[in-house]
Amino acid sequence: MGTFRALLIEKTDAGQKAGFVDLDETKLMDGDVTVRVEWSAVNYKDGLALTGKAPVVRRWPMIPGIDFAGTVENSTHPDWKPGDAVVLTGFGLGETHLGGYAGKARVKGDWLVRVPAGLSARDAMAIGTAGFTAMLAVLALERHGLKPDRGPAIVTGAAGGVGSVAVALLAKLGFQVMATTGRPEQADYLKSLGATEVLARAELAAPAKPLAKERWACGVDSVGSTTLANLLAMTKYGGAIAACGLAGGMDLPTSVAPFILRGVSLLGIDSVYCPQAARREAWRRLALDLDRSKLAALTREIPLGDVMQAGEAILAGKLRGRTVVRID
Ligand code: NDP
Repeated sequence: MGTFRALLIEKTDAGQKAGFVDLDETKLMDGDVTVRVEWSAVNYKDGLALTGKAPVVRRWPMIPGIDFAGTVENSTHPDWKPGDAVVLTGFGLGETHLGGYAGKARVKGDWLVRVPAGLSARDAMAIGTAGFTAMLAVLALERHGLKPDRGPAIVTGAAGGVGSVAVALLAKLGFQVMATTGRPEQADYLKSLGATEVLARAELAAPAKPLAKERWACGVDSVGSTTLANLLAMTKYGGAIAACGLAGGMDLPTSVAPFILRGVSLLGIDSVYCPQAARREAWRRLALDLDRSKLAALTREIPLGDVMQAGEAILAGKLRGRTVVRID
């Protein structure tokens, strides 16, 4: 039986330690599909797991990596056969189940989605959990009836992974996109993805009034806290904000005013346990609505050996767009 390289993190008395090891398939967890992992990614949650800054990992030792794309090697699941190109995000990967920073993974076939026609496995991880979540947020806004004629869309944490993909998707769908960033030097980048206006993060960071001047019809928020409270206070009558992240904090110091006086809705987005039908629809729409040249422009590639540094960098707010990890 051949071996494969994996990043393994272990719990020690001093915290946690990480190192590269060679494993064989007997070390993998139970599952009905074995996948040769070709690509993974660096998401915010990966940063938390790699550094131990939040209790993301709940099984030790752990191979981190909350998503992967690759090719099925063995399967006893009726939907999958050797050679199928698959993508997996969430379902506890890299948290309770051995994750994507390894040459192989064994998982439940029920968790997998086929890489859609028109996307490569690398594209699927350039999108990854963050891009998939941005699509879920856009689909939630669409289900709420929000179209470009209702007014502009706002995206917070716009130079990050969720934010960059959300800007590109909303622009492609015809929205006027306002993007907030703490990195003014990324204004040209955000405009190249389709933002029509770039706002300073600080503009939405102060404590929110219950209501303020109406500025946008909808939004995708990956920041939370006072930023989300300000977003709600400035949303037009009948609009909605899709909340998916906490890069600025887990609290939400808001009031009921936007909800009861302007009919504003707060739409919660979870990618981890999102049902299969919604996953397939999101991947279908990503293949259709995400401009490939913009995907290329927002993606940087690193080898597996560099994920520890990338994990630190994403928590420090220093990564731009998406970081895809090549698993050799
Ligand atoms: P990134 O780090 O790539 O993006 C987050 C962005 O938020 C940063 O690039 C930065 O954007 C902004 N930001 C960072 N720190 C702060 C701060 N203190 N205050 C305000 N803004 C800040 O992460 P991801 O895109 O991978 O994830 C974004 C968030 O979404 C995370 O909280 C993550 O946990 C969450 N998430 C949730 C999912 C779900 O299922 N609900 C799935 C995927 C992600 P800028 O420099 O432009 O200001």
